[in-house]
Amino acid sequence: APAPPPARHLFSDPAEVGALRGNLLAWYDRCKRDLPWRALAATEPDADRRGYAVWVSEIMLQQTQVATVIDYYNRWMQKWPTLQALAQASLEVNELWAGLGYYSRGKRLQEAARKVVSELAGRMPRTAEDLQKLLPGVGRYTAGAIASISYGQATGVVDGNVIRVLCRLRCVGADSSSPAVIDRLWDMANVLVDRSRPGDFNQALMELGATVCVPKSPLCGECPVKQHCQAWRRKLLGKAPPVPDVEDCSVGDCPLCPPASEPWDSSLGVTNFPRKAAKKPPRAMRTATCVLERRGCHGAPEYLIVQRPSSGLLAGLWEFPSLPLAQDLQEEKEREELADHLQAWMGWPVAAKDLQFIGEVIHIFSHIHQTYVVYSLHLEGDVTLDPALSPSRWVTEDEFHTSAVSTAMKKV
Ligand code: SF4
Repeated sequence: APAPPPARHLFSDPAEVGALRGNLLAWYDRCKRDLPWRALAATEPDADRRGYAVWVSEIMLQQTQVATVIDYYNRWMQKWPTLQALAQASLEVNELWAGLGYYSRGKRLQEAARKVVSELAGRMPRTAEDLQKLLPGVGRYTAGAIASISYGQATGVVDGNVIRVLCRLRCVGADSSSPAVIDRLWDMANVLVDRSRPGDFNQALMELGATVCVPKSPLCGECPVKQHCQAWRRKLLGKAPPVPDVEDCSVGDCPLCPPASEPWDSSLGVTNFPRKAAKKPPRAMRTATCVLERRGCHGAPEYLIVQRPSSGLLAGLWEFPSLPLAQDLQEEKEREELADHLQAWMGWPVAAKDLQFIGEVIHIFSHIHQTYVVYSLHLEGDVTLDPALSPSRWVTEDEFHTSAVSTAMKKV
């Protein structure tokens, strides 16, 4: 087994741990944000509904900002207040989720709810271990969050905010995305979590990361745990001549210190931590998109949307007819390819010159830098599309906005 990390990276003094918990919880009680799932976690007497309410919030909050989630969350809980209601819901799940991004999350949540209803008699597992084992799509973090917040289990959680706070509290400068470092951070979180208020403690640690110990320019002066923070201490001492015990443990050897090649940079202060190995740049993609428009029976314009395949990126969502393009095509060639694509599909001649170029729309998905090259085409008369190619329908502008279309298509 690897040697235990040096003491400066641990929370080994019980008195200090007790003080840190107390300071953090007192700050949380004073400053916490009012959020609908917090209210439900605190007031819902039915344990299964409480677990469900926290679960929905945690899945929505993955990769989406709190401010955006609130409204979706309220609508969701109004529509499907219980696991049973969600298990019976229809396709609307996808529609309500559209706009939150990472669409498969909604579908997976529903599948998991169905499993709880059909295989676990509607009873939510009560511990992090069981939650992770029995619920599809529930990983270590979500399981810990549900178990601590809904069921009071004294188990820690590690998310992006917690990683940052812990790395600063304990001067962890090794690559914070490496599995070995992440494991150590879980150990720390489990040691630190308050035994009597684990859910509040975990939320407090995350809230500290979201509002005070932020990535750039953290507000250390206002931080309730600064007296327990090694990065802060080191920054203050950095102004004085070097002091041996705040230097890196033993350069090059410690699994949690910054690599010897990238030592402490005093111009960065506490933001020396955390550190990550350089990320791969997102992949660039170009897609030609055509907004096909016709005059509907009441004279208002209608637009054609088609459904994407049921797997892969943006699975099952609707979009304007689109065609992925090779990277380095001339504009003229792109237009011809799009015209050919539309022609094959409509069985109707489409001249490239009739496609009117509108502009380009850039949309960043998690790992893809997507450029949509947008054209429009007005059609006279009726068009029949080859249904074998993909399901399609004509919609008014209002219908477009209430259909399950991606944020990128709304931009288009
Ligand atoms: Fe973060 Fe600064 Fe507080 Fe340390 S003192 S935990 S770096 S905000």
